[in-house]
Amino acid sequence: MKKKEKKIYERPLIRPLNASISNKFGRRTEWLPLTHIDGIPVVDLINEFGSPLFVYSEKKIRDNFMMAKRAFETRYPKIQFAWSYKTCYLNAVCNVYHQMGSWAEVVSGFEYEKALQNGVPGDKIIFNGPDKSKHDLLLAMKNNTLIHIDHFDELYLLTELASSSKSKPRVAIRINMDTGVYPQWDRFGFNYENGQAWEAVNKILMNDALDLVGIHTHIGTFMMTPSAYAVATAKMTELAIQIKKKFNHIITYIDMGGGFASKNTLKGSYYAGADAVPDIGEYAEAITSALLNAGFDRNNLPFLYLETGRALVDDTGFLLGTVLANKRLADGRRATILDFGVNTLFTSFWYDHKISPAQEMGHYAEETILYGPLCMNIDVVRDAISLPPLKPGQHVVAQYVGAYNITQSMQFITFRPAVVMIDREGRSHLIRKRESLDYVQKNEILPSHLKKLNW
Ligand SMILES: *Cc1c(COP(=O)(O)O)cnc(C)c1O
Repeated sequence: MKKKEKKIYERPLIRPLNASISNKFGRRTEWLPLTHIDGIPVVDLINEFGSPLFVYSEKKIRDNFMMAKRAFETRYPKIQFAWSYKTCYLNAVCNVYHQMGSWAEVVSGFEYEKALQNGVPGDKIIFNGPDKSKHDLLLAMKNNTLIHIDHFDELYLLTELASSSKSKPRVAIRINMDTGVYPQWDRFGFNYENGQAWEAVNKILMNDALDLVGIHTHIGTFMMTPSAYAVATAKMTELAIQIKKKFNHIITYIDMGGGFASKNTLKGSYYAGADAVPDIGEYAEAITSALLNAGFDRNNLPFLYLETGRALVDDTGFLLGTVLANKRLADGRRATILDFGVNTLFTSFWYDHKISPAQEMGHYAEETILYGPLCMNIDVVRDAISLPPLKPGQHVVAQYVGAYNITQSMQFITFRPAVVMIDREGRSHLIRKRESLDYVQKNEILPSHLKKLNW
């Protein structure tokens, strides 16, 4: 017979009235416990791999990707996804996408080399970004990579390299534009409205050095309005059609970039992200309708490339952590100190992350401020969250942390934690080790005159 579990004792306390905002659904119920991830107890994961710990669900990555692919493929016949490396470039995560047919989208020489090492063929890599060295460009040309030109200086350099190497690199130009969402992202690429984009097209097509195969835009990130994509796609298709008219030159693909919102909750938003953000189908509808309406020749439809990042991966990642201590602040608020902070959970600067207890708790909840372990005033993981009183040693799970945390985290004060992936059979794999002192100091060099200490 199963032994009856003893109820947890929670001491009574006097709660100060706190006039925090509740939305129309009442208070957010973040304290519902999350005890397992893909069938594995959170406690077991922490016991095996340590705390804090990032965990990715391979099943969720695959499910999300299939859903996005279906949303686009059922609306438009020529689709290609390219995984945005900077969103999460752990090789295990990248290779799940690559196994499912996703190309690579990179924004630096470092990411480019990473994609090549992961086994992505050079001609299935999209090379974006304002920072491509001469070395990067030569390598990309050699590998027949799609080079997305960001500015005129890059265009001139590439033209020069192409002319002296007698190869004709495949290029696209990045275009920025007014989509009705402000502030406008105009620092990358060539502007549509002021004629810069045309100037770039003219320069490329009047000269035979580069092969203009595509046009690219990435209108912003965490875009909450699918209609902005409809506006952007209409402008992109218009450009492609006018290029055909003027130069009798066919643009083979239109790359609409990334930027679809994930289910996270932006700071200060009234609704929780999961209730507020558009479904991937709404973005697909906006983009593909504009493409189908544009008036392309049926036999010459351009490919639609997508570089979706956060919307695919954010909810596939979890950060498990442990309570270090509790304290009362001077104004009576409860404060809980966790073993992960803003160094690890970088995106807590702009999201109110959903953070849940990892064990069954009582039903009493109190507004709490969650601090990280850093000796730094800015280390606030959540500035107000309704949680049951957690005890030192108990665990929490931060959800929707799969995008931009691994790639932006840093070794500020502490090591970066290990990362585990749970496969579809429920087996856990260590995909990145926790850092060590040796690892962090590997590239340090101590000048010999500083080696000797005289106490
Ligand atoms: C960052 C980036 C993406 C991915 O953006 P998400 O907002 O994560 O979807 C795609 N394309 C380019 C050019 C980027 O810089």
